[in-house]
Amino acid sequence: MTGFVCSTCGAFHEDMPRLLTVAAPAAWEALPETERASRAVLSADQCVIDDAYFFILGRLELPVLDGGEPFTWMTWVSVSEGNFLRASKLWWTAGREAEPPCFAWVQSSLPYPVPTLNLKADLFTQPLGERPKVRLQEADHPLWREQKHGISPARVQEIVESILHRSP
Ligand SMILES: [Zn+2]
Repeated sequence: MTGFVCSTCGAFHEDMPRLLTVAAPAAWEALPETERASRAVLSADQCVIDDAYFFILGRLELPVLDGGEPFTWMTWVSVSEGNFLRASKLWWTAGREAEPPCFAWVQSSLPYPVPTLNLKADLFTQPLGERPKVRLQEADHPLWREQKHGISPARVQEIVESILHRSP
């Protein structure tokens, strides 16, 4: 990874990450802070709200047209209770990548001009030690187009700058 001169602030930033984690599931962010502990469980991989809404952290990869490693949005998705229990049961099971993909809704608010919440996706279980991959279903959305067609290295820099300089 190399640094870059930032077109937003003019400074040299030392790192141009190709993997970014934005936040907890939007539904968790929306809970009043005083209710989070009683209504939700949030770990590094999973989240459950009100024993009724089930979330998994996945990798939404965008190919980068320089042929290097893909750019990855770490993205929360929601799945049905049945699929959540199935994923939990197989969490430490070798060969779990043989599972068929399951349906998922994107539940992270990613910085795009059009909301990314509730984009439809398929979630693909990966071998032990790897987070599941999120593949968007076709939609009239810039994030879908980026995943299908790939992004330029300049676009990677634009994304990184938008996160570095995100207003709170
Ligand atoms: Zn900057």
